Amino acid sequence: MKAKNALTTGEWSAPHAVQVKEEYGTLSFYMLSYTKGIGAAIKEAGKRSEVTCEFCGAPGELRGDKWTYTLGEEHKDKKRNFSEETING
Ligand SMILES: [Zn+2]
Repeated sequence: MKAKNALTTGEWSAPHAVQVKEEYGTLSFYMLSYTKGIGAAIKEAGKRSEVTCEFCGAPGELRGDKWTYTLGEEHKDKKRNFSEETING
């Protein structure tokens, strides 16, 4: 079955993410279809994203107040500066 047909009929046999993004400092998955075990894998990835720097993969933690990011020591000021630049033009 072609992918386009599987999407329209719902007969998708593989996990299919329609969107993966950072939300409140952690990964969020929006799935079109699930398979056995994928829920646990997504949950684990979400947990790891809470302790992994989103820039370099080093150990990190949730930082920030208005905007929250998971960042390690090396990059802890990176997103804060980016947000201020965006706000201040
Ligand atoms: Zn980092």
